[in-house]
Amino acid sequence: MDIEQFRKAGYQAIDNICDYFYSLGDKPLVSPVEPGYLSKLVPSSAPDAGEDFDQISDDFKELILPGITPWQHPSFFAYFPTSCTFEGILGDLYSSSVSNPGFNWSASPACTELEVIVMDWAAKLFGLSPAFYNTSEVGGGVIQTTASDSVLVAVVAARSRYQKAHPNTRIEELVVYTTTQTHALGKKAALILGLQIRVLEVSSDDEFGLRGDNLRSSLEKDKQAGLKPFIFIATVGSTSSGAIDNLQEIGQTLDNYPNIWLHVDAAWAGVALSCPEYREPLRLADINEYATSFCTNFHKWGLVNFDCSGFWVRDRKLLTEALDVTPLYLRTKEGDAGTVIDYRNWQLPLGRRFRALKVWFVLRSYGVSGFQKHIRECIDKNKTFIGLVINSKYFKLVTEPSLALTVFRLLPGKESTQAQTTERLNELNQIFFDLISSRKDLMLTKTSLNGEVCIRFVVGSSRTTLDHVIRAYNILEEEANKALQLWAE
Ligand code: PLP
Repeated sequence: MDIEQFRKAGYQAIDNICDYFYSLGDKPLVSPVEPGYLSKLVPSSAPDAGEDFDQISDDFKELILPGITPWQHPSFFAYFPTSCTFEGILGDLYSSSVSNPGFNWSASPACTELEVIVMDWAAKLFGLSPAFYNTSEVGGGVIQTTASDSVLVAVVAARSRYQKAHPNTRIEELVVYTTTQTHALGKKAALILGLQIRVLEVSSDDEFGLRGDNLRSSLEKDKQAGLKPFIFIATVGSTSSGAIDNLQEIGQTLDNYPNIWLHVDAAWAGVALSCPEYREPLRLADINEYATSFCTNFHKWGLVNFDCSGFWVRDRKLLTEALDVTPLYLRTKEGDAGTVIDYRNWQLPLGRRFRALKVWFVLRSYGVSGFQKHIRECIDKNKTFIGLVINSKYFKLVTEPSLALTVFRLLPGKESTQAQTTERLNELNQIFFDLISSRKDLMLTKTSLNGEVCIRFVVGSSRTTLDHVIRAYNILEEEANKALQLWAE
């Protein structure tokens, strides 16, 4: 393809993307394809001779799009929705046009410098302490691919710090601390690094957040057993229910264990710190006081297209001392002089995408007020949903709703709950969930809390209107009726 052919195909691509967005609301939320559908349609080897791009582009529409789940659909209330924006798409487009692995400052100065700047913009947007700003020259922010990568970097750096402080530590003594509500990223990091993991129980009485006493007694037990806990992965806004660990108690406990790293995973909820009214409930003051590192994903609720995970540390040296591997071919005079950030030493891979561009586009185009408006509107729409659930004869809230997330379950009649076993109620909710999942016009996900099957409803897209929320609720009532009949049979 030459430049002029690209111009034509590029205009065509934007037209196709616009058509996709116009038709989004009419698309089935569940892809109709069966496993293996694509291998029946696409040859098993690359073509010998190059093909015409018009054909390739048509095949995207005919073959690929039917197998795409439209996460941007206004009735997508599943997982944590990804709030894709046109500014984000354009950021990715321009970024690929200068395709650039930007691992060192000198590999492409703008890639590093823009990231340094936008991560400070974001730190200010979320109210993080200046200790986390890049301009502090001690702490700083970096964009990782995902929250899982952010945690992996934190665990590697925490392990390195601990081993430096306690040089005789054996790898099998080290323990990663999590709770039952920590995202699977904790287990994954421990698995990858061959480390033990401790999963602390949390209680529904504490809305599934960890308390300091629980942490303290476990740390003491492990210490007595000769084990070496070295990182606690705390959560602000858990996947199942938006639970928030008690960071003040945890921070005060960890003050007695100076080499235990406190990583705060706020992958979903962290972007709500942009609104001052959510800073106290999301424990910003404790994050600022106690967190060694903090992560929130722009690519979940933060208007920036996947992938883009914001990761801040209080002391950048903890990353570079753990991750700096500099063969001669990567040495530069600016790096040697220490006058620049070489982000390759803040992450696991060498090369990195120019993600700062899409963050810059989004934050400039929305401004702080536009970003806050997006967050507040999602939460307001969820409030409407909560009101419907509370007043419903079918449903009951399982936990206190969190921001734009509601967790609820279907009951056979609010008064008759005592008579039913958890097992029977789980059967009912599984039937209910299967019915919802077979619908093509909305998508939700389920979870389990205290052994109870429950349904999660999350508002995350600016394309979701109040009408979509009310429509979704009406569908849920309709399916609840059917589920109750099937269950009673
Ligand atoms: N942390 C929490 C609380 C999450 O809810 C999720 C995903 O939903 C993750 C981490 C994982 O995020 P990522 O896919 O960016 O690794």
